[in-house]
Amino acid sequence: MTEKTRYPDERNRATHYATCQKAWAPESHVLKEPKPRVLCVDDDLRVLAGLARILGADFDVATVDNAADAISLSEASASFEVVITDLKMPNMDGIALLRWFGINSPDTCGILYSGRADLNTIADAVNAGHIYRFLNKPCLPAELLDAVRAGHEKYCTETTTRLLLRQAIDEDTLTGLPDRRRFVKDVARLIESEPGSSLALVVVSIDDIELVRRTLGFGAADGLIVQAARRLQSFMRDPKFLMRHPVLFRIDDRLALLWCENSQAHAQEVTAHLIKGMTVDVVVAEHKLSLSSHAGIATIDVVSTNSESAKDPLTALRNAEAACLDAINSSESRIGLFSVSAHSRERRRLELLRRLRNPEFLEHVALSFQPQWQLHGNRLICLEALVRWQDPELGTITPNEFVPLAEEHAETATRLGDWVMENACRQRLAWQSVLPDIVRMGVNISATQMRTGDLHERVLDCLKRTGLPPELLEVEITESAAIADFTKSDAQLQALRRHGVNVAIDDFGVGFSSLSYLAQLPANTLKVDRSFIAGLNGDARNLDLLRGICSLGHAMQMTVVAEGVESLATVPVLESTGCDVVQGYAIGRPMTSTRLAQWYRNERNEFARSIAGLQCESSRVTAKAS
Ligand code: C2E
Ligand code: MG
Ligand code: MG
Repeated sequence: MTEKTRYPDERNRATHYATCQKAWAPESHVLKEPKPRVLCVDDDLRVLAGLARILGADFDVATVDNAADAISLSEASASFEVVITDLKMPNMDGIALLRWFGINSPDTCGILYSGRADLNTIADAVNAGHIYRFLNKPCLPAELLDAVRAGHEKYCTETTTRLLLRQAIDEDTLTGLPDRRRFVKDVARLIESEPGSSLALVVVSIDDIELVRRTLGFGAADGLIVQAARRLQSFMRDPKFLMRHPVLFRIDDRLALLWCENSQAHAQEVTAHLIKGMTVDVVVAEHKLSLSSHAGIATIDVVSTNSESAKDPLTALRNAEAACLDAINSSESRIGLFSVSAHSRERRRLELLRRLRNPEFLEHVALSFQPQWQLHGNRLICLEALVRWQDPELGTITPNEFVPLAEEHAETATRLGDWVMENACRQRLAWQSVLPDIVRMGVNISATQMRTGDLHERVLDCLKRTGLPPELLEVEITESAAIADFTKSDAQLQALRRHGVNVAIDDFGVGFSSLSYLAQLPANTLKVDRSFIAGLNGDARNLDLLRGICSLGHAMQMTVVAEGVESLATVPVLESTGCDVVQGYAIGRPMTSTRLAQWYRNERNEFARSIAGLQCESSRVTAKAS
């Protein structure tokens, strides 16, 4: 289902970040020392203009006319090295502002620039360490420059010292959080502090961090990590979460939260609140970004014999990571709970990805063919080619498992798609003497193939190469894959239709059905997803729904195919709702090429007789009823 849900989202996000990036100055290849950043705060705009003029040559100056904006700016962009502020300002004065910087950005050097000041207040602020210099307003430009230069030097010395200190005590230099080395020590410390209790470990992965880094740069990605860490820290202190001895760590691009916890249900509840609370819009390096995340939960329990609970910190970390990846890949929930099966699922996923990327993988794939039966003509109308992977070591792997994985990598998806197209066309030609000309070959097309933009060229090349008449080919594309980039899909599908290739909308009804787009797509077949057919069992509403879909399809001159027909008993019902074609186990399971030819020669006529019998019976019933 990945094709149906994940890509459209990611594409939108990528476009969004790329658009933001346009406003971003291109990076110079000559490495220049950036100017120190100075923030000037004063409610008198003339003073601000004067400060900017004097400092502008040597410093990167930002100006704001109130303390609240100074705080927002500092939170949104990288920290300032020096802040110069007026004392008397509405709402929040300069001393309160410098106190805020002292707590939230302790490396920033604060300079108070004022004409009238109460000496006692200033003395208190200086003694508390929030003010580095006091400048009497107005002062000479040289005096101002001296103070700011000295402030910048102090900033440099202090940050270096702090950095060294942080490294020495296993702290991450970006967030100030404990790092991976401290994680191991802290697990031991927590276990000692509450002997016998379990620890909950939650690994939080920030969505799209790599995408932000690629499109907006390292600074923006770092900013996003810092904002996420700050939000988590604020929740840890919140008594309503009831976390005992919580500690937050930064581990690579992820954050890891550890606390003493005896109930797995509570750990899940807390994590759900954390993830919800972390879903906000934030401003980072002047870009508005959506902060959202996924989480994986694991437990550490030195005394328990439960196989899902780890005994050592690093195994627990690996478990929580595996659970987190499981959540990222599942699209069902943002939170994964470690279980032995989640771990093995992740291992299998990686193993399949590794094998899929190897071009030799194609030596182990084959096609199965499933019949589609036209009710009105009571005959075979199409064969859908369905790919099968028989790995020599792993056995049979279903397309539902490996096709979405193949799609994660454009090259693999194209390689597989080209192989399927070529072999399906060749097989249909090989059956020319067995099957009548009316029988088409249906080939599934993935969203990734659609995104290449040259699908029509590849398909038409294949038809030319193999010699298959275009009318004998039907490409199947899911509605969400077609709609994800409508203009591109439309152009490619139109080109195929112009050359006589049939186009089917696959699995209709389960994606983001957008009727306005659907009406414009150049498709001539609508395949109704099997979930509608399975839900028919005498349910009047489902019947009405199907009837509606059929009329919609017919209004758009489409042939309607019912997928997943598992019982012949439903055939008359489907016919009465307006379905033109049926496909499913009741008609025939996907078969190898040899078996399909046998079925056609030996069993098709018998099958046609059963359908005719059902049709007769249902028309007798209808006639009687009327
Ligand atoms: P799909 O295109 O909707 O194919 C129909 C799927 O429904 C097939 O599963 C088929 O075996 C199954 N099916 C058919 N009749 C019944 C029935 O009566 N009951 C039930 N429960 N299932 C039925 P399969 O072969 O496992 O393929 C699953 C999906 O994998 C396909 O769904 C398609 O989206 C994808 N796929 C298969 N082959 C290819 C391929 O060559 N390329 C691409 N891109 N995707 C493929
Ligand atoms: Mg299909
Ligand atoms: Mg389908």
